[in-house]
Amino acid sequence: MNVKRWTAQRKAIKSLIEGNHEHPAVDDIYANAKELIPNVSKKTVYTALEALKSEGIIQEVRVTGVRRYEPVEGDHQHFICTVCGKIIDIKDDSLTSHTMKISRGLKGIEVLQTTTTFYGKCNSCLGGK
Ligand SMILES: [Zn+2]
Ligand SMILES: [Zn+2]
Repeated sequence: MNVKRWTAQRKAIKSLIEGNHEHPAVDDIYANAKELIPNVSKKTVYTALEALKSEGIIQEVRVTGVRRYEPVEGDHQHFICTVCGKIIDIKDDSLTSHTMKISRGLKGIEVLQTTTTFYGKCNSCLGGK
């Protein structure tokens, strides 16, 4: 592929995830990418996502087999709605430091990252109360 074109496509896909806390799935990113880049293929979107992931710019959140993406912005936890699959970021530094403290006490392994997931019903699935 033409390097200039690839760079522009990658940049456009990166812009769709930067500052985006909706945790879009590949299909969402593909739909939005089509508006920015005419004739973009799903394969290009996948390749760009893999590249951005290996560069440490974005990270993958896997929910019930669906790959979703978000910008890398430090450790945080996730709330996942068991009804509609919506993901909400939860930031609690005391929880992160506590899990890392537990990690340091574990013998014979090295923990690089910890993640805690909360499951339940989101506001709209509760009827928007
Ligand atoms: Zn929900
Ligand atoms: Zn997140």
